Amino acid sequence: MISTMTDCIFCRIVRGEIPSQTVYQNEWVTAFHDIAPKAPVHILIVSNKHLSGPLGVEETDAPIIGEIALAANRIARQLGFAANGFRLVANEGHDGSQSVAHLHFHLLAGRRLGWPPG
Ligand code: AMP
Repeated sequence: MISTMTDCIFCRIVRGEIPSQTVYQNEWVTAFHDIAPKAPVHILIVSNKHLSGPLGVEETDAPIIGEIALAANRIARQLGFAANGFRLVANEGHDGSQSVAHLHFHLLAGRRLGWPPG
């Protein structure tokens, strides 16, 4: 049984209670288009299990991180931007500018992204 939270917006998307443009889902993760895209392609890959963010990941959750990398790999090939590249990044806490307290990685592609981030 996967642990989810009643009021968490990403838990509600995972459960299908809030509509999203889902591009990928398996038993570990769900991926959908970000509502406010910061690049031509901006997809969020979220854990199906409620975890607060990177800091909330415990040893038994390690497979979820692998599944997120695999999902990014598959989505990039499926949507045709694997060859040009992409960025996969997770924000944590105040200094990371995290706004939703549910583990998610941003998958950004479709233009040359600046580095370092602002
Ligand atoms: P972060 O600031 O790293 O926590 O990222 C949260 C992301 O979730 C932001 O890029 C938001 O645009 C996005 N977001 C918030 N609500 C939704 C939603 N209902 N559907 C899709 N993306 C969302």
